[in-house]
Amino acid sequence: MSAKTTELKPCPFCGSGNVRYKEAEHAVVCARCKARGSIAPDEEMAIRMWDERAGELKPDSWEKLEEDVNLGCRDYCEKYRLEECDYNMRVHMLDRAKKLAGIEDEAQR
Ligand SMILES: [Zn+2]
Repeated sequence: MSAKTTELKPCPFCGSGNVRYKEAEHAVVCARCKARGSIAPDEEMAIRMWDERAGELKPDSWEKLEEDVNLGCRDYCEKYRLEECDYNMRVHMLDRAKKLAGIEDEAQR
């Protein structure tokens, strides 16, 4: 096992373990809900920042979603590290709601 092997914490937004470093984005990205970690100059750093962030955040809940409804697009996208865009925000919220309701998006599987 090399020293570079780092355990990635599951996604703090959807709980998915399907997270990995994406070279093109210079960040760790969740394949399920598309949450993106901090952009870092290298993989190791990106992973470290992801893990720190994942450790800070509680799992998603209806309460959290309800709170986030009050956020503006800019704040919401910043919080979830999305590209700032009203559409991204709405899709992300819908996605979270689906996950909380236990609905899997068949098309994405
Ligand atoms: Zn996720």
